[in-house]
Amino acid sequence: MIKIGTSACVLGEKVRFDGGHKRSSFVASHISEYYQLVPFCPEVGIGMSVPRPAIQLREINDEIRLVDSKTGSSDYSDKMANYFERQQCSLEPLDGYILAGKSPSCGMERIKIHNEEGRLLHRDGRGMFAEALIRNFPDLPVEEDGRLNDKGIRESFFTRVEAYALFRKLVMEDIQASSLIEFHTRYKYLILAYNPKIYYELGPTVAQCANDIEQAVSNYRSKMMLALSKPTTRKKHTNVLMHLQGFFKNDLDSKYKKELSDEIDKYHSGYVPLLAPLTLINHYLREFPNEFLQKQAYLKPFPLELGLHA
Ligand code: SF4
Repeated sequence: MIKIGTSACVLGEKVRFDGGHKRSSFVASHISEYYQLVPFCPEVGIGMSVPRPAIQLREINDEIRLVDSKTGSSDYSDKMANYFERQQCSLEPLDGYILAGKSPSCGMERIKIHNEEGRLLHRDGRGMFAEALIRNFPDLPVEEDGRLNDKGIRESFFTRVEAYALFRKLVMEDIQASSLIEFHTRYKYLILAYNPKIYYELGPTVAQCANDIEQAVSNYRSKMMLALSKPTTRKKHTNVLMHLQGFFKNDLDSKYKKELSDEIDKYHSGYVPLLAPLTLINHYLREFPNEFLQKQAYLKPFPLELGLHA
């Protein structure tokens, strides 16, 4: 089962500074049926109690430090860095991470930064644990619990999680040109649906295998994860659906061709979800098998039962 690291409070564990939790039923109930959620609470991990005094990020001598909010005299930054180091082995096997927002430890973005005296400087910071996570695992799919309420962000995140997991299994564990080519073949249309510009850059990246396979694999993963990191649009999906439609041009009679065209049009106009034309394509694929098309991650970027398509 794919493992996703998760802020423990998002799973309902009462580990927050005030003794409460921040349970997300989407994550704790819905997602947990399909993914193994691995809880981490960095603040409890560095030995803080529940409940505990609130902490905040302060800019002190050009460095961001994690200190107690009241007096600023207790500095937890080094403990947090040590905690992160100790967790490396548990973080390594993860294929994604869901962080709790607004936390000076776990927040991914828009975290308050204070000055040395505790006065607010700006809200452009990142939690100390989240910062270490993103710096050390730059390609790892990471999202905040609240942002997952947005359907496009949600779809992009789980698409990345599945891609990251398959890339690890298929390519990282057996680094050779054929593995990378196999992955690229499977993800061709999915990447095209998210970012046509990067899609066209990936061909030359795969070709780089001939000179430096390790570099090619590393470059490919970074570009591919970047391509999938922004929610896509109906227009881009429609473009890919029309490409896929072309595979059936010799198999379907005019009535069924029209049925598929109509479904793609309805999706493009916003009348039906992406799942509608995809279901039809999958149905035709069972009638007229095509090995190349059947491999396409685009047709099943994550368990469809999750109902994640925007
Ligand atoms: S936000 Fe992070 S550090 Fe704070 S309670 Fe949740 S898991 Fe623990």
